[in-house]
Amino acid sequence: MGKIEKGEKCSVEGCNNTAVRSLSKNTVAKAGLKLRDTRRAYLCQEHYKEFKKQTKADRKLESMRWSTFGGKSSSYVSKGAGYE
Ligand SMILES: [Zn+2]
Repeated sequence: MGKIEKGEKCSVEGCNNTAVRSLSKNTVAKAGLKLRDTRRAYLCQEHYKEFKKQTKADRKLESMRWSTFGGKSSSYVSKGAGYE
């Protein structure tokens, strides 16, 4: 995984750059990149960067959601303690 045939083209719609990375279609689709109908997702340097940016943003969102949730539940707990 990760290695690609020489001369493989980027699988992103409208992109004709040479691919540098091969990833599973699902992984790339989750990052919001539109792919041509291929079995595997090949990404050029540019789109791989874009892909990494998107997945990083996702992770940040995920941790933000968690800290918000944690903050909410802890304030709820402290409020509850105040009523007692
Ligand atoms: Zn591309």
